Amino acid sequence: INNFWNPVINIGNFYNSLITATAYLERIFETLDEKPEIQDAPDAFALPPIRGDVQFNDVSFKYDQDGPMILHHINFHATPGQSVALVGPTGAGKSTVINLLSRFYNVTDGEILIDGVDISKVTLKSLRQQMGVMLQDTFIFSGTILDNIRYGKLDATEEEVIAAAKVVRADDFIRHLKNGYNTELQERGSTLSAGQRQLIAFARTLLADPRILILDEATAAIDTQTEILLQQGLNALLKGRTSFIIAHRLSTIQNADQIFVIDHGEIVERGNHDSLMADHGAYFDLYDAQYQMLKAL
Ligand code: ADP
Repeated sequence: INNFWNPVINIGNFYNSLITATAYLERIFETLDEKPEIQDAPDAFALPPIRGDVQFNDVSFKYDQDGPMILHHINFHATPGQSVALVGPTGAGKSTVINLLSRFYNVTDGEILIDGVDISKVTLKSLRQQMGVMLQDTFIFSGTILDNIRYGKLDATEEEVIAAAKVVRADDFIRHLKNGYNTELQERGSTLSAGQRQLIAFARTLLADPRILILDEATAAIDTQTEILLQQGLNALLKGRTSFIIAHRLSTIQNADQIFVIDHGEIVERGNHDSLMADHGAYFDLYDAQYQMLKAL
């Protein structure tokens, strides 16, 4: 429980990267061979366009057939547009919840419904096309900024790309670069700061326009000014989408519609910030401890 809030101390935390699910997939399979490839069921059908209603019904999960159960009877319901923050110590099972939602694994027991449809019955392509996944690692490829943003929607016009950049507050810094939107980027994105890469990723994801967003909040240090900018960009991006965030930053957690405190593979507390504070439970204790630490800094 010690490291529950540790990342929050790092006030500069923010998302390092935001990429569409398709790009995520390609990259995951390039770099992580051990991830098993989930196959479409023989009678799999395409998931129709979704609103973003997400339900876990008594979901339990283990990675290895002979291994321990990692998630135990997870139940929740997120309505379209809601933001959900997953908090809890390292190893609690937060990433596993997200792995199941993006269906990198099939559940061991129970079911996951999106708009009432069991996701194990639909094609992976139709599922992931409607999800945006943001990892802690930045995905930038060699090409112009325009190309990098357009990756979210390959047939987007230049006007669409710029409009998206404006919405997520990326336009300003791009215009101040000597070559603006035609600035060439390196694969590892070293020509840009971490915050700028994130803004590009926000714009890319806005263009992709997924109903469901999955975000793994990174712990990279960023200055306060950039953090405020990113917060605004993220808020614009989240609007109208159902989001699941592995959250480390207090502001992200406080703004969430639902907070799940996860420990040892179970949701041990749930509510929003105010209700959890009023409950005077584990969340309250941890928040209070965190607050005292911040005050002492
Ligand atoms: P969190 O995201 O909260 O840090 P995880 O979901 O990553 O937690 O991990 C939950 C548990 O599942 C941990 O005990 C971890 O060791 C285990 N785990 C995670 N990934 C795998 C995997 N690919 N194979 C086996 N066990 C795993």
